Amino acid sequence: MKHVIVIGAGIVGLSTAHHLLKEGVRVTVIDRDPEGDKASFGNAGGIAVTEVVPASVPGLLWKVPGWLLDPLGPLAIRATHAPSLITWLLRFSSAGRPAEVRRIAAALAALNTRVYTDLLPLLAENGLLGELQQLGALTVYENAKAFESEAAQWALKRAYGVEVLDLSGDDAREIEPALGASVARGVFTPQWSHVRDPRKLVDALRQSLVGRGLCIRVGEACSIGPGVLDAAVSVGLHDGQRVLADSVVVAAGAWSGQLARDVGDKVLLESERGYNTTIAAPGVVLSREVIFAERHFVATPLSCGLRIGGAAEFGGLNAPANFQRSRALVRLAAHYLPGLRAEGGTYWAGHRPATPDSLPVIGASPRNPAVIYAFGHGHLGLTQGATTGRLVSDIALGKPPQIDLAPYAISRFN
Ligand SMILES: Cc1cc2nc3c(=O)[nH]c(=O)nc-3n(C[C@H](O)[C@H](O)[C@H](O)COP(=O)(O)OP(=O)(O)OC[C@H]3O[C@@H](n4cnc5c(N)ncnc54)[C@H](O)[C@@H]3O)c2cc1C
Repeated sequence: MKHVIVIGAGIVGLSTAHHLLKEGVRVTVIDRDPEGDKASFGNAGGIAVTEVVPASVPGLLWKVPGWLLDPLGPLAIRATHAPSLITWLLRFSSAGRPAEVRRIAAALAALNTRVYTDLLPLLAENGLLGELQQLGALTVYENAKAFESEAAQWALKRAYGVEVLDLSGDDAREIEPALGASVARGVFTPQWSHVRDPRKLVDALRQSLVGRGLCIRVGEACSIGPGVLDAAVSVGLHDGQRVLADSVVVAAGAWSGQLARDVGDKVLLESERGYNTTIAAPGVVLSREVIFAERHFVATPLSCGLRIGGAAEFGGLNAPANFQRSRALVRLAAHYLPGLRAEGGTYWAGHRPATPDSLPVIGASPRNPAVIYAFGHGHLGLTQGATTGRLVSDIALGKPPQIDLAPYAISRFN
């Protein structure tokens, strides 16, 4: 029986394990803390299939200085980390050229149009369909000009089949009565959904997979090397042990870069840290995820409370979290949701695995075909996890891919 090691028990690694188990493969997930906190637990819970526009778009760089001047604004770069970020930032900047934006949008859309095809059976087969709330999302604007300035992005989304309904401020308040008078425009995107609680979902998925035969090994993967005898590849653990397999999938989220470099593959991967506050008794009711466009944050009604999250902080993987950001997001939310009770929230921070072109890395290593990459999903890992798992499972089994994988190849960083 074929044996595949998956490094990482986040949503991407577990989704990959799901598809491989379904194909009768023996799967071992290696994680230094399988049940521990991770991006897949604390995210906003959005199945954001409508998000096909990359982070870098024409005109964005002009806004960056203003954001950086605001110490609790939507973007921050820690001074000590800035020098090592230069190459990533240059590549990010070139991803914002119009032709690149169109190319990247096509590649994001190719993944996102497959999401429900892969996600719904994954949830159903693990008894988790009830976790999905298919209620759409509402994007709101305070300023009609800000709405107009994003017209090209909405047009691009429409071109890829995203359903977009333009709303007045009153229409938006009719859908979500908790919104205050500051909302001037809205956009309803019915294809978006959210999960009831990402942490519960990932925990339940892991437990279900263990029930289906998944082996979980606690340990930190430090190296990926050649196999011995019949095994094509081996993974070295921090305690000196080696685990052998036919293939290894690197799904270690923001920590995947070091493992790829160990294989000899260049990659540009950064931690884009996000923050949130979850308020169990927020005093306001939202029925669906709301995106506050100008301020770059969201609020999602989860079963554990209202989660208010956002921010993009580049400081590397080891900088201490600055929970002032979590508090600042609540203050912003109170501006849009006048009845919000801000007390008693739980603060959280987590590392988004961010590539400069907003595309994940999915595909076999050109250096060693027994190594398959599945990381770098940035803001869309929960959304694209099931589809990535399906694609990676097909690669491991030598099946023809469901979509053209060229845009996601790690060789783009050479
Ligand atoms: C504030 C915020 C909001 C977000 N909102 C959304 C959203 O609404 N929708 C959406 O689709 N996405 C969202 N995201 C992004 C999404 O959460 C991530 O893209 C996704 O969780 C990444 O999943 P992953 O499995 O790749 O990584 P992780 O969830 O980070 O899991 C990686 C795992 O690998 C393990 N690991 C790492 N290195 C090693 C090693 N060397 N050896 C062994 N184990 C290792 C870690 O312990 C961890 O368990 C959000 C992210 C943040 C931070």
